[in-house]
Amino acid sequence: MGSLNYYSPEQWDAAGARARADAEEILRAHWDGQLPVKPIELANKNGAWVYSSDLKDSASGMLVKADSAPPVIYVDNGDGFLRQRFTIAHELGHLVAHRQEAGDDAVSYVDFRNSTSNPVEYHANEFAGALLMPEEHFTNLVRAGKSDAELARLFKVSSRAVAVRRKTLGLGA
Ligand SMILES: [Zn+2]
Repeated sequence: MGSLNYYSPEQWDAAGARARADAEEILRAHWDGQLPVKPIELANKNGAWVYSSDLKDSASGMLVKADSAPPVIYVDNGDGFLRQRFTIAHELGHLVAHRQEAGDDAVSYVDFRNSTSNPVEYHANEFAGALLMPEEHFTNLVRAGKSDAELARLFKVSSRAVAVRRKTLGLGA
């Protein structure tokens, strides 16, 4: 076989469904119910340190964990506030998935801005969207007629993240 990766629709769907369930579980366990959701606080409550620093080579975020050490999330300080929030939530998604598969083992992820997607990245992105835009609140606000710009402001995410979340939840374009 060649080096082209092919993933079946079932693999994408399973990754997305798991991501949303994982985010709900973290919110249930640690969220204070206030908007906007604070991804640094949720990462801290899950045992991870979060640092903002100058990441090289067009990396936007990293998750690094050495043996017998707490996991560390790095986010690029050159990115805007909203992007940094999403990246932190994305890296927390990687951490949650890693723990399910490999417990306390060491791990290192580097996320680049232009990386191609796969079910692992899809999981982390769906997790981030579900964490930052909790389903019940998001759905209620959409049904109350809030615009995407208002939703982006309330949840402190980009308009693009709002659009993706709407689509995921079947709430129109
Ligand atoms: Zn990633």
